[in-house]
Amino acid sequence: MIVVFLGPPGCGKGTQAKRLESSRNWPQVSTGDMLRAAVQQGTRLGNEAKAYMDRGELVPDAVVIGLLEERISRPDCKAGLVLDGFPRTDVQARALDGELKRMGKSVDRAVYFEIPNRQLVERLSGRRTCSKCGTMYHVIGNPSKKNGFCDRCDGPLVQRDDDREEVIMNRLEVYSRQTAPLIQFYSDRGILHRVDATRNVSQVESAIQGIL
Ligand code: AMP
Repeated sequence: MIVVFLGPPGCGKGTQAKRLESSRNWPQVSTGDMLRAAVQQGTRLGNEAKAYMDRGELVPDAVVIGLLEERISRPDCKAGLVLDGFPRTDVQARALDGELKRMGKSVDRAVYFEIPNRQLVERLSGRRTCSKCGTMYHVIGNPSKKNGFCDRCDGPLVQRDDDREEVIMNRLEVYSRQTAPLIQFYSDRGILHRVDATRNVSQVESAIQGIL
């Protein structure tokens, strides 16, 4: 099954994609994670992407489409996958359709995480990630036991460069301008399902399991 997670930054797509990865063994395909890995490795692609990411803007379609196509052609995506943060533009959505068609597949479900903007700013600015294992925390909602370090592996917790407040506002604006129209795109196909993303992680998870 091919599932697309749609929703603004901070709505909980990544957390839920990780849960599905554990429960169903469908890989979480996150273009954001792939781009951050490329930035960290200092590859040419990473260096090109960094400038866009730091400003909260979208990396050019051609770059992310190339990354995505390579990733979904790998054998671990055969049984299913969860797309987290892709597609983000109309061009990407159409490229995804084209690539899946070549593979004899199509998007089965699009899950839209509904949440008001004011909650997103708080969620994003308090978000912290373990730099070693990727476990996510929130300074208020879900703090680690030892301040600044991961409960699981003791790795240092870091704030994403683009989770600073001045960049957050731009990311939300970019989302509503470039990505929100995809809600209609998938609704027109009859495969859009809405979840109330203001609820807690377990409640959102059961709603998604119900949809799938
Ligand atoms: P995310 O982790 O999904 O919030 O993505 C972080 C940043 O990576 C975004 O603000 C964009 O700059 C870039 N990015 C991730 N996915 C895409 C995409 N599908 N298209 C364009 N830019 C992307």
